[in-house]
Amino acid sequence: MDLQKFKFKKDQYQDHRGGWSKFLNIYCDHCGEHVLLYQKDGPGPLKRMYIDRIFAPQEISSLVDKDLKDIGELRCKTCDRLIGIPANYEKENRKAFLLLSYAFIKKIGRGIYPPEIKKVETK
Ligand SMILES: [Zn+2]
Repeated sequence: MDLQKFKFKKDQYQDHRGGWSKFLNIYCDHCGEHVLLYQKDGPGPLKRMYIDRIFAPQEISSLVDKDLKDIGELRCKTCDRLIGIPANYEKENRKAFLLLSYAFIKKIGRGIYPPEIKKVETK
């Protein structure tokens, strides 16, 4: 698979959060495997992941085109750990995963997929 280098999405959602973003690689807290590549806009803790900000893998990022009722839970592909629950963020009418706070590990990334670090150490 070719290396993909993503660029930040710049739109009104980013503007509302200060106009800046960072890439996060999200890993499973249980087995340490990479789960997805995410664009976090602005400051604050990561409590939910908007599906329109998930770049990869394609099987997760493509959920943006589905109806909320057709989107299942976000689980680790390797160990099946539950990471997030689909929900609509009413204020912006955006599909998101509400995150289980201890189910994932986040690392700042450079927007590259497949990830440079495929697996992280777990506690
Ligand atoms: Zn896992």
